Amino acid sequence: EYSSESQRIAVDEIIDQFTIDRDKLDEIVSHFIKEMRKGLNAPVKSIPNGTENGTYLALDLGGTNLRVCQITFWGSGKLAIKQEKYEISDSLKTGHHSQLFDFIADCIHQFLIHLGDVHDSTLSLGFTFSFPVDQTAIHKGALLRWTKGFSAAEAVGRDVVEMLHEALERKNVPVKVVAMVNDTVGTLLAHAYENPTTIMGVILGTGTNAAYVEKLDNIRKLNLNGSGDMIINMEWGAFDNERQVLRLTPYDEKLDQLSLNPGEQLFEKLISGDYLGKITHNVLLDLVGRNLLFSGRSSNKFDNIGAVRTPHMSIIEADATDDLAYAKQLLEVEFEIPETTLTDRQIVQRICCAVGLRAARLSACALCAIIKHLGVENQKSAVGIDGSLFEFHPGFKHNLKQTMREILGNNADNINLEQARDGSGVGAALAALYAEKDH
Ligand code: ADP
Ligand code: MG
Repeated sequence: EYSSESQRIAVDEIIDQFTIDRDKLDEIVSHFIKEMRKGLNAPVKSIPNGTENGTYLALDLGGTNLRVCQITFWGSGKLAIKQEKYEISDSLKTGHHSQLFDFIADCIHQFLIHLGDVHDSTLSLGFTFSFPVDQTAIHKGALLRWTKGFSAAEAVGRDVVEMLHEALERKNVPVKVVAMVNDTVGTLLAHAYENPTTIMGVILGTGTNAAYVEKLDNIRKLNLNGSGDMIINMEWGAFDNERQVLRLTPYDEKLDQLSLNPGEQLFEKLISGDYLGKITHNVLLDLVGRNLLFSGRSSNKFDNIGAVRTPHMSIIEADATDDLAYAKQLLEVEFEIPETTLTDRQIVQRICCAVGLRAARLSACALCAIIKHLGVENQKSAVGIDGSLFEFHPGFKHNLKQTMREILGNNADNINLEQARDGSGVGAALAALYAEKDH
């Protein structure tokens, strides 16, 4: 199928660089367990059991979209959700923080108008804010750093709830933020409401991260005080920025160098939706430049930074037609590449699969590290997973599970990987519910 021996060798070499073998998996898991103490303590005191009830507003700022929701908990593990989704533009991500928060306040206002529910009384809202925060109370926490392509000015170091309250006041929106959670914590809470065996919430979307319920004896060992359940927000996107076990390919290095946060969030950059398309793009451009793909011919469109996005990989990987017709359509029509051969398209598909497979295998390492740390391999438990990468990328779930089997053996089948759609928003509403009860 390959048109030359040098083409075959070049592609195999690249695939090799993205391959993580069995030994490497174990090495990453061990290192991860050692590094686990770096997680942040999330000040949420109770894990839901499904009996909660009430109606709350929630706001979910994940990275790509903003969701405003109204959630009613019926108290039997059931709930009703109304929500609207707004896209966050690049200029809002990278402008001044007041513009970003004004936009958020406007969206809440619009949502309330559509709901026909503009009361005189102030509504309570839970805020899912999915960036690293030094949280000191359920409604208080300073932004540590931006991630996922955000860089809004004069926000780092400031209290996030305060910034939102200032915008709500500027815009006269009668809403009070009573709780703030990370999306991982939100997903964990939301999934526990539906399934009490939940031990972890995981995000595989624009970025990646997880939160888990720490065991009592570990809390004692770590000399952490506090009563009730303890939830740890891993911030695993920043795992091994020191590069003790992670190996970056030249294509990952290029992505990192061109990112807004070079040298940071390296684990996240190898795994999540904001980055996989860019890594794949770097590989393909390299092959074109070496005359090994598309007969060395690109297009203006394909040369654009950010041309290939992670959802494109899903289309290409899912293409099961004999002549890779969907890939052909994408490459020749959308990207305007003059002409592609079947071999070209097979190469593109192999590269997409390799980048996607590595992402799933790395996420499996992190997930298994937490399971081993908790010592729950033998216990039936659920992991709630939210994020479009997990939901829509073909094979991600399968590859994740398969890799867990390599690491944990048959015990992997005790761990149920469950889609926690809307988890981050629902969890924020549960956090708001608890915050109000504690008052
Ligand atoms: P957020 O992380 O902002 O809450 P999502 O969970 O929707 O939002 O994740 C958005 C990310 O998922 C984007 O980076 C996008 O590239 C990726 N994504 C969206 N659709 C797909 C798809 N069909 N296949 C793979 N990745 C996708
Ligand atoms: Mg999200």
